[in-house]
Amino acid sequence: MSRVAVLAVVLLAPPLLAAERAVPFWPDAVPDAIHRAVNGNEALETVRSLGRFHRVHGSPGFAAAAAFMRDKAAAAGLSDASVEHLPADGETRYAHFRSYYGWDGREARLDEVSPRPAPIARFPELPVALADYSQDADVTAGLVSVGAGTSPKDYEGKDVKGQLVLASGALPAVHRMAVEERGALGFLSDFPNQTTAWSGDDRDLVRWGHLSPYQLKNTFAFMLSKRQADGLRARLAAGEAITLHAVVKAKMVKASYDIVSATIPGSDPAAGEVVLTAHLCHQSAGANDNASGSAAILEVARSLSEAIRNGAIPKPRLTIRFLWVPEIAGSQAWLARHPEIAARIVGGIHMDMVGGLLSTTKGTFHLSRTAESLPHVLNDIGRAFFDQVVAASARHAERGGEPYAGFVTPGASRELFLGDIRALELGSDHEVFEAAGWGIPMLYFHDWPDVTIHTSKDQPENLDATKLGRVAYLGAGIAYTLAALPDAEAPKLGTLVRESADIALARARREQALASDARDGALRLREARAEVEATVVSCVRRWPSTSDLNGLLPSLRSALAEVPALRGRDARVPVRNPEIRGPLGVYYFDYLQEKLAGSAANDTTSMGDHEDLLTYEALNLADGRRSVAEIRDVLVGRYVPVEVAALTAYFDRLAQAGVVTWK
Ligand SMILES: [Zn+2]
Repeated sequence: MSRVAVLAVVLLAPPLLAAERAVPFWPDAVPDAIHRAVNGNEALETVRSLGRFHRVHGSPGFAAAAAFMRDKAAAAGLSDASVEHLPADGETRYAHFRSYYGWDGREARLDEVSPRPAPIARFPELPVALADYSQDADVTAGLVSVGAGTSPKDYEGKDVKGQLVLASGALPAVHRMAVEERGALGFLSDFPNQTTAWSGDDRDLVRWGHLSPYQLKNTFAFMLSKRQADGLRARLAAGEAITLHAVVKAKMVKASYDIVSATIPGSDPAAGEVVLTAHLCHQSAGANDNASGSAAILEVARSLSEAIRNGAIPKPRLTIRFLWVPEIAGSQAWLARHPEIAARIVGGIHMDMVGGLLSTTKGTFHLSRTAESLPHVLNDIGRAFFDQVVAASARHAERGGEPYAGFVTPGASRELFLGDIRALELGSDHEVFEAAGWGIPMLYFHDWPDVTIHTSKDQPENLDATKLGRVAYLGAGIAYTLAALPDAEAPKLGTLVRESADIALARARREQALASDARDGALRLREARAEVEATVVSCVRRWPSTSDLNGLLPSLRSALAEVPALRGRDARVPVRNPEIRGPLGVYYFDYLQEKLAGSAANDTTSMGDHEDLLTYEALNLADGRRSVAEIRDVLVGRYVPVEVAALTAYFDRLAQAGVVTWK
């Protein structure tokens, strides 16, 4: 065993002190009771059931899945489980976000007529065979290959009018250029999947595709595997004339975002709520993305309510709410319609892709902390449960013994729980909850990568009941702690807050010492102190017994003024338009695109790889007091160096679009 390996074992499994608890701030009886109630097999069974529904936003398949989840939540003991139908009609606005249309896809078939008659695609037998928002057609026409099909060059010397097109580019752009501008009848697509190290290895994946949900003139697109598309391309390149027959029975319709809500009521209605969210949508099977998160939060609901009903754990003080939504758009719609509940939510957990078997999906589990604009004691609670499960799974894998002690689900895998705790990553509903205007701190549970994401191969057999059970336990433990930890036990949580403060400040001092720019290095330490302060405030507000943490504050605050203002700074103070709540980009909707379409001000910024995250957080940090230069400094201290000029250009665009005004 190498020195490195010895060190790893010591870190994973510190020697237990006689009095040490599995989770420091709970008597063992509480996490034990939750562990006993969680059933990973039950969660996997829910994944299998949900996988049968093709769950496109505003579709009959989604509505059926929502009704199914409401019934499951009610059967789990959540008596107020209900489905709320919020309009998805292309007109209704939820704050600034304009809803899009729903879609009713009935059936579709694509056949080669000549020279080699054969079936090519069948929907709904293969649910991803027909792109979302395709509409009625019955056409027989020749096939033309146009490469990506997203640039005028792709069409040079080709007449696609009255033809079908084969293209690999983004679907709405191909539709616009081939169909709307050049008269093609519809198209076939092998638009590639998200990039991973395994991209392209499986030539038989069929990707889930979408036309624009706002474009009522949509014709249709069939989705093909790379093998099918390349086969057709080779034949066309060899001079074959291929004739296809496409039949589509589908329509864009005024529909609804169906949102399932259910609660475990708290004992003190004034104390607020903790929320667990998962997006219920996506293609069938959509097993890991996101039947897994939907099933895992249902298992949190089921296990906590069982343990409470049995008297194994007391009823929580705060209400615990469960929401199953159409991704991002549904969260925005629900929050906009329930601002009074939104204001009561203390924090929560979003789960999106949490059940994958490493050997198949290639993904490990990530617990993303709350946004750096929303530091919160949730991060310390999350770390305590995460460390427990990681250590228990490693002890079992390395030494054997009782599988239950390793959080192994009977009959399922005994794999290590591989994961990490990392900073915010965008891309799902937590992005809505944490955005300016809602400001709800959320932990984000997610597997990444997943080589099957958004394809025909995201199937229940890639999932693992042990993983689902471990994740449901994490969710239940963390949510129950925020909702129910008695004030008398909270000082032990305060000890963890102190520990992570020490670690964060030590790391910031190291980064300051190594920073190439002295001022940026100083900002690193200053912002680490500000984040510790915000975390302490969140802890003491929830648990007054941790008020000795307030003793940390004077030294943190006195250091905040140490960094001098930047020369040549942008001292303008942006004030957010109160009508704009939630992220500017909501699933298919882009507010800046809507407001600034065609304008030179719509250029991208110069923030590089981190642009999405930095612009999102920049707006979150615009509190009506900070100047653009001060927002820049916070971003530098909490994320990565960024030029003031890039922020200035971004806020100018926001001002032009009416998102902010200048104080
Ligand atoms: Zn997802």
